[in-house]
Amino acid sequence: MPVDKRQIQELEKAVVDGIELTGDWNRMFAQRPIFDYDTAIMDKITSLEGGESLGWCYQCAQCVGVCPVDIVGGDYGPRKIYRNVQAGVDLFTDPDLWKCTTCMNCLRVCPKNVDMIQIMPAVREEAVMDGQVPEELQQVFENTFEYGNPLGESPRKRAEWTKKASVPVPLMKDKKQADVLWFVECYPSYHPRGIDASVALARVLNLLGVDFAILGPEEKCSCDSQRLAGEKGLFEEFAEQNIRTFKKYRFNQILVTDPHALNALKKEYPKYGGKYQVVHYTTFLAPLLDKLEFKNTLSYKVTFHDPCYLGRHNGEFEAPRQILTALPGVELVEMGRCRQNSFCCGGGGGGMWLDGFMADHVAERLSERRVREAVGTGADVLAVCCPYEVSRFEDAVKSTGNEGKLIVKDIIELVVEALGD
Ligand code: SF4
Ligand code: SF4
Repeated sequence: MPVDKRQIQELEKAVVDGIELTGDWNRMFAQRPIFDYDTAIMDKITSLEGGESLGWCYQCAQCVGVCPVDIVGGDYGPRKIYRNVQAGVDLFTDPDLWKCTTCMNCLRVCPKNVDMIQIMPAVREEAVMDGQVPEELQQVFENTFEYGNPLGESPRKRAEWTKKASVPVPLMKDKKQADVLWFVECYPSYHPRGIDASVALARVLNLLGVDFAILGPEEKCSCDSQRLAGEKGLFEEFAEQNIRTFKKYRFNQILVTDPHALNALKKEYPKYGGKYQVVHYTTFLAPLLDKLEFKNTLSYKVTFHDPCYLGRHNGEFEAPRQILTALPGVELVEMGRCRQNSFCCGGGGGGMWLDGFMADHVAERLSERRVREAVGTGADVLAVCCPYEVSRFEDAVKSTGNEGKLIVKDIIELVVEALGD
């Protein structure tokens, strides 16, 4: 921008510390605004409960390099969102609102605690109330509301998968009490690849003699991803229903297959009066490995994808690795981005249901980037332990032309393979 000459104050001569300076060296500028913008949108965001921390950003840019959406060409990260809002972008209606997967990698490095895990749901909640939601996400909200699961499957068939288990999978309504209440969740109940993992876990629980039961049709979606995508009302309604169901039975702990359910039950349900000991299946199984007799040697080079909601959000990095390294013949190789700095599969925070929308905003899908990273390690198997990931990564293996080079398996499937049952 050209300098407004009227703002320049210039002396003919100045003497500084005994040295005479000409006008060229003593040019001063009158105070002027560095930027001038309308603060209305920023004020609206920071006045929301949860939105406050966007205003704390001081533009250090630590977050941008670790944001998976920026890495795949999404031009993203809290710093950019802050700057765009300053420049007049209305985040409540802008596509930027839906790109964040709430993976938490930016919060990990942010010196100012700018918290997208709070900001995004708060702003999205307003957008949801105004009906400003991408169509594919709206469909998922409606499915969840109507059927109790985002896939739109019959709630009555929630326990149908147990017919494939060929081991007993008792229902809580029959047993009334059990040591372990297994909260199966939606994708492990309905999605074909989720069912494969559920069947495998049911077999291992039986083998270990665990006293467990599931809720079956009484179970509702934990709704954690819908909450993060802005449907707080739906989340609250289902949390209250699930808590009412839990109250009917006696159990010591809740076992979850899904890190998103882990997050909801561990961190959110206590706000609604439901306090439980909740454990992910990898955490549950890791100390019991010496009770399992592995008969098969797998001879796999395996790389492991840390799910955002198991690792960064809930601090479990070791149990999945303990299980993998206990399997005979498995060589574990790490990807460059792993553990705290793990990449995101793109499924969190509603991203599971926004692939069509995201295709218009990124150069490649997050799952595709991750599959390329996995292939780069030379691994035969990409091991996962979140039900969103198997289908996402299997699609990405195909779309990146890596079929035949890499297979995607849930850790529990590898356990059963090693057991040889
Ligand atoms: S790391 Fe935090 S303070 Fe720095 S630019 Fe990002 S959001 Fe702003
Ligand atoms: S939470 Fe993840 S996807 Fe969202 S802005 Fe931060 S790093 Fe990017």
